[in-house]
Amino acid sequence: MRSLVAGNWKMNGAGEADLAKFGALKTALAETPPSCDVLVCPPATMIAQAAWFTKGVFAIGGQDCHAQPSGAFTGDISAEMLKAAGASHVIVGHSERRQYHGEKDADVAAKAQAAWRAGLIAIICIGETLEEREGGSANSICHSQVLGSIPDGATAANSVLAYEPVWAIGTGKTPSVDDIAAMHAHLRGCLKERCGEEGGKMLILYGGSVKPDNAAAILSLPDVGGALVGGASLKVADFMGIISAAPA
Ligand code: PEP
Repeated sequence: MRSLVAGNWKMNGAGEADLAKFGALKTALAETPPSCDVLVCPPATMIAQAAWFTKGVFAIGGQDCHAQPSGAFTGDISAEMLKAAGASHVIVGHSERRQYHGEKDADVAAKAQAAWRAGLIAIICIGETLEEREGGSANSICHSQVLGSIPDGATAANSVLAYEPVWAIGTGKTPSVDDIAAMHAHLRGCLKERCGEEGGKMLILYGGSVKPDNAAAILSLPDVGGALVGGASLKVADFMGIISAAPA
């Protein structure tokens, strides 16, 4: 399975200059064909336009979805709506959703099921806080998040796991490569426990302050199947630097 480098624009991007980034990324990918799959998750307002414009070159995804297909949920967006707009993936359980919207593992699992129902690939995020890492419970926290956030029926085709230590997101700090390798090996075991044989094949992305200068070291680690990139995905040159670092 090819690795995946996914950009999460979060709540950034609205104007012409942001739309122009899709054209610039398309051109850059045509000049330097990637050895990984590429996905950008812009704000929901940009998905339809982006998906139409980038079709066949790179994929477009949502950053969150509601568990229900439709209904009286003001301000929410369903997986079916993302699919209709042209998305192929949706991020669920990002730590910012868990932190600012109180989402628990069961909510994340319901959203992953909604993603599958709509025909989307769910990028299911987990990760420990700094307190948990320093207290020595990172492995057990991530184990319980894997068991609680991944629904029955997860396969390597319908799901991707993203390990994002909360303390590494947007901070410029990353775990050491040894720590990333150790956690990804641990997560591989958790995935096999949760999903059986499919868990052995599922991509595990690393996320948290991935930049062009640390991407090669991280992406070449065993069981690292790609990266989920926040800040650096907003600059086409930086995002391309990460994409180019993906091993063939
Ligand atoms: C993220 O928000 O998923 C993320 C990894 O952000 P950053 O790359 O900016 O740390």
